[in-house]
Amino acid sequence: MESNGNAQYFLCDRCGAEIDLREQVTLCPKCGGLLEVVYDMRGLRRSAHLFREFRQDSIWRWRDFFPAVKDEHIVSLGEGGTPLIKSKYLGPALGIENLYFKNDTLMPTGSFKDRGYSLAVSYAMEIGVKRGITYSSGNAGASFAAYSARAGFPGLVMVEYLASPTKKAMIMLYGAKSAVLHFKDFAQVAKLLEYAVGELGCYAFVNFINPIRHEAMKTYAYEIYSQLRRPPDWSFHGTGTGGGVYGAWKGYRELAEIGVTDRIPRMAAVQPESVAWIKAAIDSGAEEGALFGEVGHTIAQSICGNSPLQGGKRLLRCIRESGGLAMAVTDDEILEAMQDLGHEGIAAEPSSAATVAACKQAVKAGRIHAHETVVCTITGTAFKQPSVVERLVSAPQHTLEATNEDLRKLLAELDML
Ligand SMILES: *Cc1c(COP(=O)(O)O)cnc(C)c1O
Repeated sequence: MESNGNAQYFLCDRCGAEIDLREQVTLCPKCGGLLEVVYDMRGLRRSAHLFREFRQDSIWRWRDFFPAVKDEHIVSLGEGGTPLIKSKYLGPALGIENLYFKNDTLMPTGSFKDRGYSLAVSYAMEIGVKRGITYSSGNAGASFAAYSARAGFPGLVMVEYLASPTKKAMIMLYGAKSAVLHFKDFAQVAKLLEYAVGELGCYAFVNFINPIRHEAMKTYAYEIYSQLRRPPDWSFHGTGTGGGVYGAWKGYRELAEIGVTDRIPRMAAVQPESVAWIKAAIDSGAEEGALFGEVGHTIAQSICGNSPLQGGKRLLRCIRESGGLAMAVTDDEILEAMQDLGHEGIAAEPSSAATVAACKQAVKAGRIHAHETVVCTITGTAFKQPSVVERLVSAPQHTLEATNEDLRKLLAELDML
């Protein structure tokens, strides 16, 4: 009987039959009993050393690159260290051999915000912050809620009215203090935060305003570099405030400065067409970005900021200096990209699938060449925006009665017989 590593054979626990592991059986072919895989214990003993060491891979692997935080102040739930998945279908279809997805849907609260909040809440504990506040389109609120509740840190989450009910509910699930925030535009929110910080003594955890959260976003560069063993040529980010894309760029610049690499990827910032102020500023050669469009007209909730923070100068610099792109995508393009990602095994929320939609646009426009390596950051899970998934794809189209005839017909129809 052929051995299969340490696994030896199936044992039937009813009749005691020993059956080859490569037999395509589920129940015992002799008596119909349940089968169990039997191992060579001497072989397993040789692998016992595996239990002696486990390396938790998280952003804290890179703590030398962060502001110092003592061990006892670190709040970590295993954020970071996510897989870089090579595209199997879309890349070849586009003629791009090396298209990758950095799959941050696997984060503790389902979005890349956990990178920033693990570090920022830890740092707030380190420096003795008494009162924290954040504004969120949903994901940041869920993340702040999880990390601050876990740390016992007093924080208020203001979640925007547009956020999906699931995101709002998650904030409650983690047990944070929270409120639904109504506003006309981003600038109004910025003013409110200024007041909270200036007059009420709050510490702001808001992306792009809080300087600590960017530092954790550098881990995109560190992780992707170590996964590819080189920097990619292109890095696509769904961009709301720009903290993600700016932080990643800073990480790559650091890698160049310390001599790890001599190349920095072109950074591509992706926005919904309805609020694409970055593209407007880049296209017009403006030094500063300006209010553009209205929020609430896209399914890409996490990236629908319609006005720049502090003129958006950092972001414009990131795109111009890296030789990158500012891109605008439509909801239809995003929905198509969600399906592309689904076929790759990744359930992405619209704001994350936007990177793939933009990458497709850029390839079609001849901006990306076949030999270039492209990474799309997949920042958040589709599971937090279930209504979009349900709208995009209904339940399986085929139905069948539990009859032999129906099943045979269906398999034939599906080309499986
Ligand atoms: C917050 C968020 C973004 C945008 O990140 P910024 O750093 O604000 O640009 C993109 N995708 C998802 C899923 C997000 O939650």
